[in-house]
Parts: sequence; structure tokens; C-alpha cells
Amino acid sequence: MNGWGEQQGLGLYLHVPFCLKKCSYCDFYSLPVRPGNLQRYVRAVMKELALRAWDIEDRRIRTVFLGGGTPSLLSASDLTSIMNSISFNLELDNKAEISLEANPTSLDGNALQSLQKAGFNRISLGVQSFQDQDLQILGRSHNSQQARQSIELIKNSGFSNFNLDLIYGIPGQTIGMWKETLAQALELEPAHLSVYLLQLDEETPLSRDIKDGLCQLSDEDTEADMYQAAIQLIEKAGLVQYELSNFARPGYECQHNLGYWKAMEYVGIGPGAVSFQANRRYLNKRNLLQYLTCLENDQEPELEELECMEAQELVADAMVLGLRLCAGINLERFTQSYGINVLDYYKDIIEEYMNRDLLEVDNGYLRLSKKAYFICNQVICHFLPDLKS
Ligand code: SF4
Repeated sequence: MNGWGEQQGLGLYLHVPFCLKKCSYCDFYSLPVRPGNLQRYVRAVMKELALRAWDIEDRRIRTVFLGGGTPSLLSASDLTSIMNSISFNLELDNKAEISLEANPTSLDGNALQSLQKAGFNRISLGVQSFQDQDLQILGRSHNSQQARQSIELIKNSGFSNFNLDLIYGIPGQTIGMWKETLAQALELEPAHLSVYLLQLDEETPLSRDIKDGLCQLSDEDTEADMYQAAIQLIEKAGLVQYELSNFARPGYECQHNLGYWKAMEYVGIGPGAVSFQANRRYLNKRNLLQYLTCLENDQEPELEELECMEAQELVADAMVLGLRLCAGINLERFTQSYGINVLDYYKDIIEEYMNRDLLEVDNGYLRLSKKAYFICNQVICHFLPDLKS
């Protein structure tokens, strides 16, 4: 079953687990770059693509997303080789969205032009803030001026489809600083903006600093005000909110992420990449050396099973993801895909949250009301099997 999206085909995610240095809030699988590792990694992912292609029944690829880590640390020629390997081993849709995640310190104009020739048509830049104080707290390897220069480079290289990632709720960040970051981002006219509330794993250095009293997170009311300010300012600039944290000019919504929210299948390549196929979610183990060694011996990388879902869990998973979309869940398509009528199946929950103005049904869609956006988890969690009453 391939979700309830309109299109067919798979998403392809390729994880590049290298960064210049670790940011203070990061719990993604990323390691410092070591001499020689990049070359070994590129050879290994190309081999994994060739080996895994045989397991993929329907090899049509709708979207490609190179994420990390910092994929832009790879040279343009390595990224071109990876794209050639994808096209060679799989059926890449000729209209596929092909995104590259990048950081401001690892982009140059010549490389961007080569990437366009290689087929990349979307850049997602990890800016996070235009305030140097915020960037220092986050332990980013760039400053705000470098971010602005990179965006100019992206635009001058002819990429009209680019996203900026921004973070709010950073210790010490005031609402004024956040609005200034948003204003500067919007001035640069991105096609897409992602705004995320800072989420911290306990093991990160920033979490430890907070625990030790060296800095403090903002309170929930301030975070809610920051979220509302983002919605207001971004929509005023002509971008439309299409997901709880994502905004785009019409036609520039991220097709790869839409696939996740519509519970469509995807294949993950590279150490730490997650795949979702045939009701199973599984991970390429987060161990670079093991990954390289396996592939250098012509073996598929070791997998770790995350979830093997029964029908009821698949429905819950698709509900939890789909309710993040501002348009909501298309009830008819959902019935076609999962064989249930959502309004009957979740009758009690839907009635309760509609009465509280947190859910709405309109024109064949079930969605969160705007009032529920910031407190979405309090509503969405009730669709999980354990809590379904
Ligand atoms: S650049 Fe991204 S992946 Fe790399 S350490 Fe920073 S937050 Fe983590």
C-alpha cells in the first residue's frame, strides 16, 4: 500500500552523515569529515543503490532528497556521480523533484551550476537564524552574513526553488529577534520556508548547558507567540502555510516531504537512512564503518527494524502524519487506500475535538483547526492505537 497520495512512485532519501562540526542542539546521525571518508562513502552509496535496486519492485522514483548531515560537503562531481547512479539503477521520473540540503559554509557558485546540470532542482539551506547570537548558541559553523551570501549565490546560479530552514525558541532569542530573522529571510524571497521549534534531545550539549543553568529556554507562551508571528509575517509575504511548520509559494510545496505526510513509501540509502516499504519502517544501522565495510565486501548494509505495522497501526500512522497537513486528510482517498471510513472509525475522537473547535471536517477533508496548530500533539496523539477510545 502506497499511502493516500495522488501520485505513484517512491521517494528516495539519501543520507550523507558528515558535517564540518557538530551543532550544539543536533541529534541527527552525523560525524566529522575525515580524509578519505567521503570517497569511500560515495563508492559505498553507489554500490548500495545498485544492490538495493533489485529489492525495489516498482523502481519509479518520484522525488530524491539528499539530506544529512551536510550533503553539500560532497564535491559537485561526487554529487553528479551519485545522481548518475540513481538514474542508472532506478527509473527516475523526468519531472522528479531533486533536493539537496546545504549549509552556508559549503556552497560555491561553480558547484551550484554543476549541480543544476546534474539534475538538482531544489536547494534546502540550513540558515536557522539571521542573528549571530542565535547562531553561536546553536553552535552553527556559519554567521548571518555567510548565510545571506549563500542565498545570493543560490539565486544567481538560477535556482528559483530554494528553502530556508529557520528555528525559533532558541535560548536568549526574543520575539523581536525572531521577527527580524523572519523579515530578513522573507526579503531574500525564498520559494519555501520551514520554521521549527527548537527540539532538544537530553544528550545534546545545549541540553546540558540548559540543565547546568548556563542558558534558558523560552516559556511556552513566548513560543506560541513566535509561531503565530511566523504565520502572520510569512503569509503576508505571499507564502502559503501547507503544513504545520512549512510554507511555500503556490506550486513550490516540497513534494518529497508531502510523500511522508501522505504515508507514501520511500527508500533510504546511506548509514542512518530510514526506509518505509511494505508496512515496515527500517533503518540502515547508524554505523559508518560497518556500512562501508559491508558494501566494500559486496554485501547489503545491516538493517534495524523500527516498526512492522498491522493494518490498525498503518491507519494510525497515516492519520498522525496526514493531520499535519493544513489541507488535512482527503477522506475519500483515505478510504480507497485503507478500506475504512475515518469519520466512523474515529467517531468519538472526531466528535469530541470538533466540539472543542480543534478539528474540522470540510469539503471531504478532515483537518486540524488553526486553533489546534500549536498544540497539535495534544489532538493528534488520540489517533494512536493505545489512546483510541
Ligand atoms: S549541520 Fe545539521 S546535521 Fe550537521 S551537526 Fe548541524 S544540525 Fe546536525
